Amino acid sequence: MKRITKRQFLKRSFAGICGVSCLGKEGFAFESTSNVQEYKLGKYSREVMFYSETPRGMRCEICPNECDIRQGDISICHNRINVNGKLYTVAYGNPCAVHIDPIEKKPLLHFHPGSLVFSIATAGCNFSCLNCQNWDISQTSPYKTRNEELFPEAVVTSCINNKCPAIAYTYSEPVSFYEYMYDTAIIAREKKIKNVLVSNGYINELPLKKLATYLDAANIDLKSFSNEIYLKLNAGTLQPVLTTLKILKDAGVWLEITNLVIPSWTDDLDMIKRMCNWLVLNGFSNFPLHFSRFHPMYKLTQLSDTPFQTLLKAREIALAEGCAYVYIGNVPGKNFENTCCPKCKTVAVERKGFTILSNRLKNGKCSSCGEIIHGRWN
Ligand code: SF4
Repeated sequence: MKRITKRQFLKRSFAGICGVSCLGKEGFAFESTSNVQEYKLGKYSREVMFYSETPRGMRCEICPNECDIRQGDISICHNRINVNGKLYTVAYGNPCAVHIDPIEKKPLLHFHPGSLVFSIATAGCNFSCLNCQNWDISQTSPYKTRNEELFPEAVVTSCINNKCPAIAYTYSEPVSFYEYMYDTAIIAREKKIKNVLVSNGYINELPLKKLATYLDAANIDLKSFSNEIYLKLNAGTLQPVLTTLKILKDAGVWLEITNLVIPSWTDDLDMIKRMCNWLVLNGFSNFPLHFSRFHPMYKLTQLSDTPFQTLLKAREIALAEGCAYVYIGNVPGKNFENTCCPKCKTVAVERKGFTILSNRLKNGKCSSCGEIIHGRWN
């Protein structure tokens, strides 16, 4: 079987000429991108935590892509290299994005509302979403971005100095800078700083379980409920993301789920209904679900914004299926950012954008009827 790169696969898919011959175990086959001489080790390199040797190179086992990386190659996520039979990440202590955000921006609406979160990202991602809003840092390597030096100890110190109670691993794809995130999360936990993962959820079970011990909250993108769409839109697959949700829930991590509704790609209401039904049947009904509005971006600039009516219908479907807390994101001023009591509908937390206007929760319960509002509020 002739193996192709992931990008070649996507290109062929869109040209409509990808046949069965390019499909592998997970639906597609690819290898890491080649032809690169300049990838070198340096102070921002660390040995990868999960990998093994195969006849075709060193196999990274962090995420389901399981890249076989030969000497001189770089991984699909743009930051793992093989040097003399050892696999290294070059995304360690060199974030290209460092910001202080409101926790609501992640989005996490049921996790310490109104608090700040120290947010970091290095370059790199294990997906290639056609709609990526951070493509300038996600679809490149740390060799090509402007980076700061911030090793794990310094991340936690900066977080504390800036009076942030939490660190978020976010913006690009934290799975691709796993080792940096993991080491930071251990130190943060020691210092009583919370750890927040904002991710596509495309990670193998072992590394996820190891990381989950140190996580307090996560927002996971459930990009669609179709493996075919995952392949074409994101260059990933659905099942590992569903497994991630279950593992995080079982590990006691506070979860919120985001579904970006993209016209003609992920706006099929039957599919949304199936997704919500799966969430309810698998015990996710009390975890917030965010339907997010798409804006034309990256390789999907020919599309329009998601019509508000589509988002409203998606929300109605989710509520009818049994999801207790359903939000509409990226549409300010329509009051779908408020947290309402699922029983009496009283507004418990009122928001405008990322700002909290009022918080009427009493010990995590509705002040009107006493119903529990699920979340981590204190
Ligand atoms: S984390 Fe990166 S190198 Fe590892 S398998 Fe995933 S895409 Fe490949």
